[in-house]
Amino acid sequence: MVYERDAEELPANKKVENVQAELSRFVQAQQTVLQNLQKLQAKALQEIGEEEAAIFDVHQLMVTDLDYVEGITNLIKTSNVSAAYAVAKIGEQFAQQFAKMDDEYMQGRSADVRDITNQLLVVLGEHRRNGLHLTKSVILVVDDLSPSETLCLDKSKVLGFVTISGSTNSHTAILARTLGIPAVVGTGRVLPEEQSGTLAIIDGNKGLVYLDPDLATQQQVVEQQEEEAKNKEYLTQMKGLPTITQAGQKIKLCVNIGQVEELPMVERYDAEGVGLFRSEFIYLGRKYFPSEEELFVVYKQVAASLKGKKAIIRTLDIGADKKVAYFNLPAEENPALGLRAIRLCLMRPRIFEMQLRALLRASAYGKISIMLPMIISLAEVQQAKAILERVKENLRADKIKFDPEIELGIMIETPAAAVISDLLAAEVDFFSIGTNDLVQYTLAVDRQNAVLNELADVHHPAVLRLIELTIQNAHKQGIWVGICGEAAADTSLTAQFVAMGVDELSVVPNQVLTLRKLIREL
Ligand code: PEP
Ligand code: MG
Repeated sequence: MVYERDAEELPANKKVENVQAELSRFVQAQQTVLQNLQKLQAKALQEIGEEEAAIFDVHQLMVTDLDYVEGITNLIKTSNVSAAYAVAKIGEQFAQQFAKMDDEYMQGRSADVRDITNQLLVVLGEHRRNGLHLTKSVILVVDDLSPSETLCLDKSKVLGFVTISGSTNSHTAILARTLGIPAVVGTGRVLPEEQSGTLAIIDGNKGLVYLDPDLATQQQVVEQQEEEAKNKEYLTQMKGLPTITQAGQKIKLCVNIGQVEELPMVERYDAEGVGLFRSEFIYLGRKYFPSEEELFVVYKQVAASLKGKKAIIRTLDIGADKKVAYFNLPAEENPALGLRAIRLCLMRPRIFEMQLRALLRASAYGKISIMLPMIISLAEVQQAKAILERVKENLRADKIKFDPEIELGIMIETPAAAVISDLLAAEVDFFSIGTNDLVQYTLAVDRQNAVLNELADVHHPAVLRLIELTIQNAHKQGIWVGICGEAAADTSLTAQFVAMGVDELSVVPNQVLTLRKLIREL
C-alpha cells in the first residue's frame, strides 16, 4: 500500500483580532497534547518497554521546550496570527534546523518535531495526518512515519514498512527494530500511489525492496525466512545453557551497554553480566557536570538491578570523538592522540574523584568493578590507584559503606599497554581488551575516518599478536582477561580468541546467544 498524505499547507495566515484568545488556545492545545503523550507513553511502556516509552518523554520535553514555545507565542503576539499558523510555521522552522545538522542523531529528531507539531495542529482543528487506517495486511510505503504513528500502527496488519525519508537512527527505526517490524527506511525513491496492490518483498537486513518479484526471488526469500525463523528458535534454546566448548573451556559472555535503560538486555539475552558500561554517556548531551548524587543514583541502579551479576563500569572516556562543551577542553590537532580518558581524569582529579566516590558508594548495593580506559603506563595505573585509595579513606572517615573488595581493572587498548601487559598485570585485578582503539592505535588508522574502513582490520597479525600477548601475560600473573571491543562479537575470530584462552567476551546484547551457540560447537 502506497500511502500518500494530503499536501500539508500552512494554515491560512489571517490576521486575528484577539491575540490573547489565540495565546490561550495554544496553551490549551499544549496541555491536551501533553496529556495524550502521557497516555501514549503508558501504552508504550506496557506494550514494548522503557527504552521506547522514553521517546514520548522526549516529545513531552519538546512540546514544553522554551525556545519552541517562545517562538510560537512571540509570533502570535508580534504578527497577530492564529495559534495554528504560528505552530505550523515555527514547527517547520525547528524541523528544518534539525534536518540540517551534521549529526545523524540530531537529524533524526526532525521527525520528532514534526510529530509534535502535527499533534498540536490536530488539536487546534487543523486536520492533518489523520492516522493510517489499514483494512488488510500490507507492506506500507509512506514518506515518513512519526514515532507516534509507528506505535499506533495496527501491528496485526503491518507486515513491514518502507519510508522514503528518515534515517536508521530515527526513533521510528529504533521502534521498528524493537517491535520486530521489518522496515527499510530512507530509500529516497517516491512510489506513485498507483503501485498500491503490487506484490512486494522487503528485506530489512539488507535494506532491499523488491517490487513485483519473480517466482525464483519469491522462493529464495521464503527459504531465507524459514532459515531465519529456525535460527531464532534455536538461539532461544541457548538461554540458560552454559557457554562452554566441547573440550570444557568456559567463556563468560557479557554485554556492553551505555545507559540504565539497556539493563534489561542482560536478562533478555541471558548474559552473565555487564562487561563494559560506557559511563561517559551520562556526561554527554547535557549542559553541566552531573553531581555525585546523580552519578550515584545511576550506578546504584546498575548495581542493584543485576541481581548478583557483575557490572564493570568504565571510568570517564571523554575526549577524542566524545567531546563535551562544559569540560572546556582545548582544541587539538589530533584529538585521538590527545587529552582523553584517563589522561583527562588524572589532570582534572576533582572530576575523577567525584566519579570514583559515586562508584564506590554504589558498590555497597551490588557487584561493581571499576575499569580505567586508555592506559599507556604503569605510572597512570599507580596514580589512579592512589586517588582511589584516597577516596576510599574519605568514605571510611565519613562512615559511608562501600565494597572493600571492589575490583579494579584496566582496558588494554593501546599497543603500549599490550606490550607492557606483564608489568600492568601485577597492578590490577583484570584486563579488558578494547579492540576498537587497539586497532586504531596499532595500525595508525583513525577509527572515525570512513575512507580507511578497510585498513582498520582487527585480523591484522599485529593486532592479533598483541591480543595473544596480553592474554598470556594476564594468565601468567593469575588475572582474568576479556575482550570488549566490537571484535568480541566477530564470529570469524571466536575460535581464535577461545584458543588464545580469553576468559570473557563482552558484546552488543543481541549477539550473546549467537556466540553461545558458536562456542558450544567449538
Ligand atoms: C574499544 O576501544 O574497543 C572500546 C571498547 O572502547 P570504546 O569503543 O568506547 O572506545
Ligand atoms: Mg576505547
